[in-house]
Amino acid sequence: MPLTKGNTKFSIEFLRQIFFVLSLKCFVLIIFFSFFTLIWSIQIKAREIVIPILTYHNFSSATEESYKINLEKFDEQMHYLATHNYSVISLSRLLAIKEKNELPPKPVVITIDDGYKSTYNLAYPVLKKYNFPATLFLYTDFIEKNQYSLTWEEIKEMSNHNFEIGSHSLSHPNLLKYKEGEREEDYIARIKKEIFLSKEILENRLGKRVKYFAYPYGAYSSLVKELVLVAGYEGILNANNMNNPFPINPASLNRQIIYGNNHFDSFIKILNQQIIPTSILFPPDGEILNNQFTKIGAKLKDNHLDMSSLTMKLGGAKVKFDFFPQTGEIIFTPSSPLIKKSYIVNITAKDKEDQSNKKISWLITIN
Ligand SMILES: [Zn+2]
Repeated sequence: MPLTKGNTKFSIEFLRQIFFVLSLKCFVLIIFFSFFTLIWSIQIKAREIVIPILTYHNFSSATEESYKINLEKFDEQMHYLATHNYSVISLSRLLAIKEKNELPPKPVVITIDDGYKSTYNLAYPVLKKYNFPATLFLYTDFIEKNQYSLTWEEIKEMSNHNFEIGSHSLSHPNLLKYKEGEREEDYIARIKKEIFLSKEILENRLGKRVKYFAYPYGAYSSLVKELVLVAGYEGILNANNMNNPFPINPASLNRQIIYGNNHFDSFIKILNQQIIPTSILFPPDGEILNNQFTKIGAKLKDNHLDMSSLTMKLGGAKVKFDFFPQTGEIIFTPSSPLIKKSYIVNITAKDKEDQSNKKISWLITIN
């Protein structure tokens, strides 16, 4: 509509109408975008990125035990990952990702420990079928030891087909334990050999750099961790049974042990398990203490927890704890002396909004 001097009244009315329609459109758009952003932020909050690193040991086509999974069950788990939009990636790929937006959808890493023959005979064909990479953690004394061990030939074949090889020491000792009457310097020399020489042997035999180390029995201290770093490993894996947040900590990669006698539901639960953010863990992760009455706990930073679902476990056994809502501290005070050994401490709770399972866990040792 052209605007002319003789038509001013009409034009103002026209502009007013245009203005009204535009404002209405803007209002609708603003409402729409606010709603969209709200939904989006709720989803983001409820589903923080977690990266499960799964750990298997032995495989069987007949029986099942905690450290020996039935092949059908294993295949079912791999099939689930393949058909539910999970991205099974290698440890190297995970460690190379620096920005959140480089992460593929639902990342998962697969590891297999110890070097059983069944890794080659049973697990390898299944993983090949789905084109899934994996990392094997081998302790060199077991290689070609007996009919249940992998041979170097088999290891070489797998390492040329999507499998990475990491060290799991020479002889699979508990790296925290002294031998009877062993002096400190002899202990350090011995565990150093377990960490350094195993890397050297694997590298010489395979002609590839060995970049990852998994603690035998998941046992470590700050000293052990330090030696693993000095040896030049770029990724260190524990067995603390929790998922990894992003960005990941290469010196402290959490793994989830997949037990052969667990139900399929618990596998799904592990994949979906979120992390409870904390500001302090006490005693800190990897600490060795002499006090058998030490207070154990954490300061929780999560205010979305359903407090009625809060539990705390020490070495797999539930303990009674105190919770202080004003500080967010959860504390277990032992009433009898704790047995001298390593404990995984874990705290679990449900999210009060979406009821997802959340967990934090770490390792302490009473000496
Ligand atoms: Zn092992």
